[in-house]
Amino acid sequence: MPTSSLLQRTAPIKLESTEFQLCDSLNDLFLVIENENRGVFRIITRNYSTVHKELCAYIENKFGIRSRQYLDCSTIALFCAGCLWEYPATYLNQLRLGKKFQDMYPTIIGAMPGHKTFGRTGICTQCDYHESLLVYECFQPELITKIDIQRIMRYFQKEAKDWWKSKKENWHHCEHCTEKIFRDQGFIDEKQLFCVKCIDEKLENGLINLKSYPHFYGNNLLRKARTALE
Ligand SMILES: [Zn+2]
Ligand SMILES: [Zn+2]
Ligand SMILES: [Zn+2]
Repeated sequence: MPTSSLLQRTAPIKLESTEFQLCDSLNDLFLVIENENRGVFRIITRNYSTVHKELCAYIENKFGIRSRQYLDCSTIALFCAGCLWEYPATYLNQLRLGKKFQDMYPTIIGAMPGHKTFGRTGICTQCDYHESLLVYECFQPELITKIDIQRIMRYFQKEAKDWWKSKKENWHHCEHCTEKIFRDQGFIDEKQLFCVKCIDEKLENGLINLKSYPHFYGNNLLRKARTALE
């Protein structure tokens, strides 16, 4: 019975306040994804590219290339299993494409350093650990609600409070309408500060946008925003 092996070989783990089953084989991960639409697989980081390909191929076969499950293959996340740091996109591209990625983008402005070495070794630049957690989650449109829009607002607000900590000024312009925003106020989206009016505008069709593409406002931002509200 597949279910019994499932129970034995998986354990729950919480990442960004979402409970996932932690699997130790790809087959278990496949079963867990079929049942729960999400799952975590512990891997040797250097094997990321191969495992990622296998998982995407399975989901494409099982659910189809037009499925929501397949859509969310593009945003599979990777966390260090040692320090739980989420690897940035440059790190994942380096693992996946190796030297090809460097040839395409010889220098990336503002990128987290260390991605070239990381791409070769798969060793975490923060804690030196070699294993990581591959995180798959399908955000089903019927479970995306108006509350998620409020959560995203609050998430942008929280990001702004963090952003202000590194600033000395007492006010800043809104990047869109140039309205004055005072210390600790405003909303950060994609590293830029916005006023409430402009963020309202951005989120105006939020529900439609998110239901058609759950990563509309950022990769896995829905999960991060759902976490932030708790
Ligand atoms: Zn680490
Ligand atoms: Zn400015
Ligand atoms: Zn504005």
